[in-house]
Amino acid sequence: MKTAADEHTCVNDDEILDIANEVFGASAEQSVGRALGRHHRFGHSPRMVEDPNDPPSWAHQGMERLDYEEALGRYDPDTGTITKWPRGIARAAEVLDVKPHSLDRLVDLHEHAHSLHHRGVASTSARPQEIADLLSRQDKVFRAIRKDAGEQVAQLATLLVLRQSRDLARHRRAVATFDDFLDAFFCLMRRQSDPYRLPPGTRTMDLSRLQDKLILLVEMTDAGMSPSADNIRRILD
Ligand SMILES: [Zn+2]
Repeated sequence: MKTAADEHTCVNDDEILDIANEVFGASAEQSVGRALGRHHRFGHSPRMVEDPNDPPSWAHQGMERLDYEEALGRYDPDTGTITKWPRGIARAAEVLDVKPHSLDRLVDLHEHAHSLHHRGVASTSARPQEIADLLSRQDKVFRAIRKDAGEQVAQLATLLVLRQSRDLARHRRAVATFDDFLDAFFCLMRRQSDPYRLPPGTRTMDLSRLQDKLILLVEMTDAGMSPSADNIRRILD
């Protein structure tokens, strides 16, 4: 029977590279772009910033609530910037007893989902003026939709990336890493406000169904609709 030490020594350098490639081979932006079916064009990728200070929510609510935008990271549509708070991420990982790098990856995926929802483009053949018009419409919509709709899109996109990646992973350790990410995602959700919460059934829902529901929500927001939390729950059930 193999011991833990044997398992450890069984992984050679090539396998370590395979595992790393399966887990981090695609950037958060690429992975979320595939899930949402839209990508940044013409240098519209967000600027990434790390704020070394405490997250703003600590001063008034401590670590009671762990909503992304209050404690972990945020996307600013005015400047196209994703700001992360490493101190908030490290402290939240401690509170939740999850690995900091798992939480860090979730923040990347969630905030890139906001960025792509705002300024991602589905078509690869549209002309610059068509893209400019589309982005102008998306900008108005993104700023007008209810918080519920925007956060549910970001949460569904994050979940879809994790589940698709887990399904595609071939190496046992890569699968285990995605299981860690998924555990951290649902563990974090229990400490978050309603707009961030997905029905538990979404963890096991058929993947193509999950993607259809995500695309439906995105299309609804693109059309100027802003479903309430209750409507979204019905769509996801
Ligand atoms: Zn968010």
